[in-house]
Amino acid sequence: MKAITVEPKKPGTARFEEMPEPDASEGSVLVEAVAVGVCGTDVEIVEGKYGWAPPGATRLVLGHESLGRVIDPGPRTSLKKGDLVVGIVRRPDPVPCPNCAVGEWDMCTNGQYTERGIKEIHGFMSERWRIEPEYAIKVDASLGLLGVLLEPMTVITKAIEQIFLVGQRAYWEPRTALVTGAGPIGLLAALRLSVRNLQVHVLDRTETGPKPQLVRDLGATYHTGSVLDLDFNPDIVVECTGVGAVIADSIQKVGAGGIICLTGVGAGGVAERATADIAAAAVLKNNVIVGSVNANKRHWYRAGQNLANSDREWLSRLITRREKPENFKQALERKPDDIKVIIQFSEV
Ligand code: BGC
Repeated sequence: MKAITVEPKKPGTARFEEMPEPDASEGSVLVEAVAVGVCGTDVEIVEGKYGWAPPGATRLVLGHESLGRVIDPGPRTSLKKGDLVVGIVRRPDPVPCPNCAVGEWDMCTNGQYTERGIKEIHGFMSERWRIEPEYAIKVDASLGLLGVLLEPMTVITKAIEQIFLVGQRAYWEPRTALVTGAGPIGLLAALRLSVRNLQVHVLDRTETGPKPQLVRDLGATYHTGSVLDLDFNPDIVVECTGVGAVIADSIQKVGAGGIICLTGVGAGGVAERATADIAAAAVLKNNVIVGSVNANKRHWYRAGQNLANSDREWLSRLITRREKPENFKQALERKPDDIKVIIQFSEV
């Protein structure tokens, strides 16, 4: 079969190449790939900045935003041939740490977790893949290709859960939410916040393309420019850019008692404001800055329901480009109006 593989930490090594069929040890459920979403993490791996091959291997099969069709469910599952499934990304560390021991691998404390397509286990950008039944999430068949949005939905389902858990520390009645960055994660955050009793605002640098209307169609307000110029102090900020200045501005702008959830993974940048000044703003307003990564099974199940209950037409507008696996290099390039780019292996 063919797969998109890369030698992690070596830029320019990605290729679409022939490789052996997935090994039975990778799981008893055999799946035919339908589509795989591309995200910033995949781009970083291809650029040689992130990623780890499986032990003993030099190359890693890319891809962690999966959607596939069961070809052979194997003996230990209620899955049936033809079911649409998405693979959970992270596996608990083998020690295991207390969090992994109770199934909260997203909160792994020793860093020895593994992740499909990212860290030491092959991903889903291959014509066929295998998975352990307990890590295969069946998606509502009526979602079709939109099932490829389940993995990003799990990330935001966890992030929003974290915000409302943190909010329990005191009496808290949030009214306004700001999402910084209108990429797939930001837009899904806006979607999920808009179903709560909140005024939702989304800020992005893009003034054109589909993003402003997508936001307006949620009943939310679209902004460009600086966070500091907004005429309100948000109770919630979901930060989805990973850009230093946007993060610092968000901490300054958030309201008293407000919560900032960081979901973007950035790097570098030059600090325009001293760290202690930013911290002082947070101290004097009782703010909480909470980082959120990955998702556990509780979030996967809830995200599946969230996705199935969302407006399909709106969701379908998030998938702005579909590429064939042989054109994976184009799929990894960002074009101005891109939201979610997917690599489509077969028809749904
Ligand atoms: C994935 C997460 C993963 C994180 C860090 C993200 O792109 O969606 O599942 O935990 O990267 O590797």
